[in-house]
Amino acid sequence: MINQKITCRALLMVAGLTLTTNLITTAVAGVNDHKIACAGVEKALVDAAMEQARKDATATIAKLDAGDATTLQKFSRWLGSPTPTAIASARAHYERVVTFSGFGGVWCPVANSPEFGWNAGDFAGVHPAAPRDIFFAPQFFEVGATGLDSQASTAMHEALHTVGVLPQGTEQEVYAVPALEALAKQNQAAALRNAQSLEYLTTDLLYGGL
Ligand SMILES: [Zn+2]
Repeated sequence: MINQKITCRALLMVAGLTLTTNLITTAVAGVNDHKIACAGVEKALVDAAMEQARKDATATIAKLDAGDATTLQKFSRWLGSPTPTAIASARAHYERVVTFSGFGGVWCPVANSPEFGWNAGDFAGVHPAAPRDIFFAPQFFEVGATGLDSQASTAMHEALHTVGVLPQGTEQEVYAVPALEALAKQNQAAALRNAQSLEYLTTDLLYGGL
């Protein structure tokens, strides 16, 4: 079941594509209501996850630069053929995570809301009305700090969205391992803009469990 889990509310997929101006205005007001500052233990955990995400991105870049056989094999599994162009594309995404270029803020909207509608298995999300901000779901605080499907990997996933790793057009985000492996083989360009693919390459390279 762990691979069935959705780690992200993929609300950015509809950003600007189907919402009318009026709806976006409403959404902006709604999402602003949920910019609740993380506090206490939650703030400490969020801060640690964001910092670990930066460290993991840095470590992933080092692995890509070394380019050993194991790294290339794992790259193939999650992101398709390890051509110099493909590796450079992935590397650029991780570099932007390191610096969080254009990054907004982190929020802890613990109450449920129509804007987010957290489901079981949702850890965090981004919202079209605040695309540089990360909103953490209550369940985020119940998973491990590092490794597979952890707080740190979730932070990296959402950070990737804030730096522009997003589905295009009618694409859906892909989360499950078999679907991720198929995507890498069949549509490398889509894999390279699928946050879960990049998240799992990092997990596979640094922590294993996949
Ligand atoms: Zn996502």
